[in-house]
Amino acid sequence: MINPLKLVQPTTIQEASKALAEFGEKAKIYAGGAELMLLLRNGLLDAEILVDVKQITRLHQVSADNGALRVGACVTHHALEKNSMVREHAPSLAYAESQVANVRVRNQGTLGGNLSFNDPHSDPGTVLLIHNASVTLGNGKGERRMALSDFFVDMYATALEAGDLLLEVEIPPLPARMKSSYLRLHRYQRPTLGVAAGARMNNGAIEEVRLAVGCVGPKAERLAALETKIQGARLSGAKRILAEEKTYLRDLLRPVDDLLGSAAYKLYMTGVLLGDALEQVAQEGNLEN
Ligand SMILES: Cc1cc2nc3c(=O)[nH]c(=O)nc-3n(C[C@H](O)[C@H](O)[C@H](O)COP(=O)(O)OP(=O)(O)OC[C@H]3O[C@@H](n4cnc5c(N)ncnc54)[C@H](O)[C@@H]3O)c2cc1C
Repeated sequence: MINPLKLVQPTTIQEASKALAEFGEKAKIYAGGAELMLLLRNGLLDAEILVDVKQITRLHQVSADNGALRVGACVTHHALEKNSMVREHAPSLAYAESQVANVRVRNQGTLGGNLSFNDPHSDPGTVLLIHNASVTLGNGKGERRMALSDFFVDMYATALEAGDLLLEVEIPPLPARMKSSYLRLHRYQRPTLGVAAGARMNNGAIEEVRLAVGCVGPKAERLAALETKIQGARLSGAKRILAEEKTYLRDLLRPVDDLLGSAAYKLYMTGVLLGDALEQVAQEGNLEN
C-alpha cells in the first residue's frame, strides 16, 4: 500500500525547484515513476508530495546542435530507441535503450530518471560514457554542466543537490570513423553486465579506442588505462590483454556479489564481453555509425 500522495505539476524548472525547496525531504521528483513507485510500494522510500516534472516542455526535447545530440531528461527509453537522430548519431545507445527491461518499462521510464537513480544495473550510462556525454543540472538559481563520469558518484548517488533537476544530456558524436558496440548479459530483465566499446581500426590495428563497463560494481566506469594499453594492438592481441587485466578491472570496477551474479563471474565475463564487443566493432558495430 502507498500512503496518499499529493501531486504537484510544475510547468517550469523554477516552479519545480521552488516546490522541492518548499517541501524539502517530503517531496520527490517524479518522472516515469518506474523506480519511484517500486520504492514507495515496498516501503523503501517516504514521500508525501510528488513533483511531476513531465509537464516541463524542455525536458521532452531531442535536438542536434553542432553535431552533438541534446536529449531532455524526460525522454523515454522507447522514444530514444526509435529516434532516427539517435539511431544515426549514437547507434549503440539506441541499441542499449532497446534492451532496457520490457516495452512497458521503456515506455514509462525516462533517461533522466535512469541516470538520476544511478542503479548499478543500468544500460544507457555505460554507452553514454564512451560518447563523453555531459549533463546539465538546474534549479531556481541557474544551470551547470558536468561530465557524466563526474555526475555518477557512487551506487544510487549522483552529483544532484537538493532542489536540483537533471535537465538534459548532451551526447557528442564519436570521433570520425569510430564504430561502436554495446553488449549485455542478463538472466532477468535488469542487466548482469553491460560493456560498450568504440574503436577506429586501421589495417587491422586499433587506432583509437574507448571502453566502458557497467553493472559489475557500484557505477559505470570508463577504462582509460586499458584503452591506452590496447591502442595500436591488433584485435587478437587486444583480446588477450583484455582477458589478462583482471587486477586492473577488479580495482577499478570493485565487483560485488549480488542477485544477478557473483563478483567473480561478472569480472571474468567483463574480459570476455569486452573482447566480443571489440570484435563486433572491428566488423561493423551495432549499426552503421
Ligand atoms: C522491472 C524493471 C526492469 C528494469 N530493467 C532495466 C534495464 O534492463 N536496464 C536499465 O537501464 N534500467 C532498467 N530499469 C530501470 C528503469 O528503466 C529506469 O531506472 C527508469 O527509466 C527510471 O526512470 P523513471 O523516469 O521511471 O524515473 P522515476 O522512477 O520517476 O525516478 C527515479 C529516481 O530519479 C529521480 N528523478 C527522476 N527524474 C529526475 C530528474 N529529471 N532530475 C532529478 N531527479 C530525477 C526520482 O526522484 C527518483 O529518485 C528497470 C526498472 C524496472 C521497474
